[in-house]
Amino acid sequence: MNRSATIAKEGAAAAPFYIEQGDEIALFEAAAANDLPVLLKGPTGCGKTRFVAHMAARLGRPLYTVACHDDLTAADLIGRYLLKGGETVWVDGPLTRAVREGAVCYLDEVVEARKDVTVVLHPLTDDRRILPIDRTGEEIEAAPGFMLVASYNPGYQNILKTLKPSTRQRFLALEFDFPPPEAEVEIVARESGLDAERVRPLVRLGGKLRALKGQDLEEGVSTRLIVYAATLIAQGMKVDRAVEAAMIEPLTDDADVKRGLLDLVTAVFG
Ligand code: ADP
Repeated sequence: MNRSATIAKEGAAAAPFYIEQGDEIALFEAAAANDLPVLLKGPTGCGKTRFVAHMAARLGRPLYTVACHDDLTAADLIGRYLLKGGETVWVDGPLTRAVREGAVCYLDEVVEARKDVTVVLHPLTDDRRILPIDRTGEEIEAAPGFMLVASYNPGYQNILKTLKPSTRQRFLALEFDFPPPEAEVEIVARESGLDAERVRPLVRLGGKLRALKGQDLEEGVSTRLIVYAATLIAQGMKVDRAVEAAMIEPLTDDADVKRGLLDLVTAVFG
């Protein structure tokens, strides 16, 4: 069914490493205690997915993560009839499983999904907390612990792909951004194993690249990419090659822009 490496289920394990940027942990806990859905807004690679994984583990709830894409339909989330050994059997999708089990369901980049997806979310995001399944005639009441979390990147200026007010006004919303430099150094050092002194210039370069957002670059460099650069360096790769592969090439295909970015690298690393 779900064509997919796009769906992952994680059990309640030890909470993955997460550095808080503000009061998002307390806010998420309050939302979870009161059955309120949460929308995480922010650029790609800034820690939204890690935050949800951390919170689900902290709350001791299983987590279903669905990476939404433009072919994702309501049936991919809810489930469908499948032929198994000559018999037709109903197979729950990740949203239905989360609703039955009282898990956290995280819809990453929810605006990418087909429009029929938002329709199934509505009755789950008000105090009915139900999931109607037309195909089976079932109406499932969400088990205690069920929580809907969605993310989207408001940075992409795509008018066709924004959340309708009728959908977004059903969620508490938390704004995410890249961590402040000292926190980012700590994150990158921890994730890559490279020592903080060697991570610092990478983070400084990251700050300079982010300042170009909206001019030469559509998006600044993500924390994820800085982790990649540091990981390559920790493996023994030369700094300039690692930086080019992880922090420059992924940002642009334009030769002139790339030259400008490489000048920034020289300015930071000498
Ligand atoms: P998003 O979901 O916003 O696209 P991710 O959560 O996948 O981004 O973050 C990308 C990577 O950045 C994570 O795998 C992690 O290594 C690192 N990261 C970013 N922010 C944090 C943070 N606050 N604490 C720990 N790791 C972080």
